[in-house]
Amino acid sequence: MKKVIKKIEELAEEIGRDVNLMEVCGTHTQAVARHGIRALMPKNVHLTTGPGCPVCVTAQEDIDAIVNLALAGIPVATYGDMLRVPGYYGSLDEAREKGAKVFSVYSVEEALGLLDEWRDLVFFGLGFETTTPMTAYAIKKGLTVYSTHKLFIPAMKALLKTGELKIDGFISPGHVSTIIGVEPYEGMGVPQAITGFTAEDVLVGIYMLLKQIEEGRADVENEYTRSVRKGGNPAALKAIFEVFEIAGGNWRGFGIIPKSGLEIKKKFSKCDAKVKYKSILDKVDFSKSRRPTPCKCGEIIRGLKESKDCPVFKKVCSPENPVGPCMVSQEGACNVAYRY
Ligand code: SF4
Repeated sequence: MKKVIKKIEELAEEIGRDVNLMEVCGTHTQAVARHGIRALMPKNVHLTTGPGCPVCVTAQEDIDAIVNLALAGIPVATYGDMLRVPGYYGSLDEAREKGAKVFSVYSVEEALGLLDEWRDLVFFGLGFETTTPMTAYAIKKGLTVYSTHKLFIPAMKALLKTGELKIDGFISPGHVSTIIGVEPYEGMGVPQAITGFTAEDVLVGIYMLLKQIEEGRADVENEYTRSVRKGGNPAALKAIFEVFEIAGGNWRGFGIIPKSGLEIKKKFSKCDAKVKYKSILDKVDFSKSRRPTPCKCGEIIRGLKESKDCPVFKKVCSPENPVGPCMVSQEGACNVAYRY
């Protein structure tokens, strides 16, 4: 590791200007913090957190929609972290305290298991290409889903398009890449390194990015070759697109990003909670979802602010009392900053 750090220092000196490298995977956010990698960086190399935490990027409108379904008497199941994300109408946990049937599950299999007793159950599906194949499988087995699933590449392109932050390179997501492979990252015009999750992986990824910057290249390099193949996982991709179609995706901090969302195909509409419970959802006042709040998650997700810039960080907002999603999820920037 010492050798890689030394090479990073040499390259940073040769580059001789500030560089912003963004990690766009929640597991990288944790790895960077847990291994103290920021502290190892030369002073002109800045590591920024991007939109890699699935809980954090779930739009407020979607939280409010699922809470309203629960409050209307529809049983809801989802992954644990999601229960604590506050919306205008409260969180799923709070809905449960009011008597709603809300279940925390570890897998779609567990949600499928609840169907015997709760036939109207809705699974709140979230995440990127990594979790979507399992949701697709469950839909084919008859599970009703409210989909907030998203595709990752359009978000990276949206970040570059806004130009709000000069991004000199992406530490690209290892998990997502196991599904989508290497090719979809090509043509973005910035250096990228698909990276694994050990301290050494991340440092080598950073070295690869700095080397590209120093040589004036903008390639897609794969540090995580032990898990990521060029073509990804065709069977998982097939499973996704058998059930889902590409649509606009609603992201916290961005709004609608074209072609970044995954909606359930008409063929499976009897398992689509947005169709099945349209009459309930149509009555929800989503203008409340867009009310101003002190939470800076939207800016943090876009790399524009850090947790410490938020006026309520550690004062009001903590993992025990989260004000925003970035404090709820173990992969969220505020939760990570609080713990490390
Ligand atoms: S500290 Fe809390 S309120 Fe502030 S940005 Fe983070 S999650 Fe949002």
